[in-house]
Amino acid sequence: MQRIAVLTSGGDAPGMNAAVRAIVRTALYYKMDVFGIRYGYKGLIENELFQMSSRDVANIIQRGGTVLKTARSKEFLTKEGRAKAAEHLKENGIEGLVVIGGDGSFKGAEILEQEHGIKVIGVPGTIDRDIAGTEYTIGFDTAVNTAMEAIDKIRDTAAAHERLFVVEVMGRDAGYIALNSGIATGAEEILVPERITNVERVVQLINYDQKRKKNVHIIVVAEGDGFGAEALTEILAKKYPEMEVRLSVLGHMQRGGSPTYYDRVQASKMGYHAVLGLREGKTGMMVGLQKNEIVFVDFGDGCKKHLEINQEMLDMVKVLSQ
Ligand code: ATP
Repeated sequence: MQRIAVLTSGGDAPGMNAAVRAIVRTALYYKMDVFGIRYGYKGLIENELFQMSSRDVANIIQRGGTVLKTARSKEFLTKEGRAKAAEHLKENGIEGLVVIGGDGSFKGAEILEQEHGIKVIGVPGTIDRDIAGTEYTIGFDTAVNTAMEAIDKIRDTAAAHERLFVVEVMGRDAGYIALNSGIATGAEEILVPERITNVERVVQLINYDQKRKKNVHIIVVAEGDGFGAEALTEILAKKYPEMEVRLSVLGHMQRGGSPTYYDRVQASKMGYHAVLGLREGKTGMMVGLQKNEIVFVDFGDGCKKHLEINQEMLDMVKVLSQ
């Protein structure tokens, strides 16, 4: 394989730049040409391709976001859109494509391969860590650390005023950021989309805590929790008028920031292996991490369903927050 391209797609995640850098430099090391595609599949359809040199990826390993920019593309969902995308790859002589993104982006890559014979390798880039077949996705570690630092600060003010805080963290359909940032900050309760929220159970917990003179409560709620942080805050504020019940939505700050060492190292490893995989003729696969080893997982088997939440960790919260 002589010529490859790389794009970032879907939501951005800190560490994507480290992966882009590793892909570009590994390709150049093996004397391959490497093209960057701006704005994901949207940019591919609009011919936003440019040849990259080693200097194009200098000084980016520590930066959040993605220098290639990212986008979502409705046109790529159509056969015609994908035909345009494939045409731009072919007219530039590109044989292999590395897609850094989530499961939606991998579905797109899989179809592009089936319809047009482009060799594709996926690198899991999403703060949600919601892709089956890998224990790690780029950006998750930074996002959890960002949420953790914010919740630590909220706990300081909660303790000073003896308040109850409901903190909403990111995770539209996966509770891993909530679970991990909640455990790391000693949250009294963690609510995730994977488990039906029982408000009565939350109320019982607060009553029990009050009896034990535990006056600070942090409830971490994933944004995709079926009940919702706002609705929960309203109910608790009515139920406990004597307490100061507050809602804090952390929002997009969790996507940004300089990636942690862990995200930089794992993203570098995944980018490096993505290019080695293409060189070996691999296609239709995602680079994953299992038991701390790099593996290749078939798009077909591994990546389609979401990673299941660790129920034992959820149960542990009850024990540790006593
Ligand atoms: P995130 O987890 O951050 O949301 P993602 O990769 O899952 O990332 P999506 O918005 O689902 O994000 O997908 C990104 C892009 O991939 C879409 O805008 C679309 O162009 C393409 N894509 C998604 N699903 C498909 C599909 N079934 N067929 C073809 N292309 C798809």
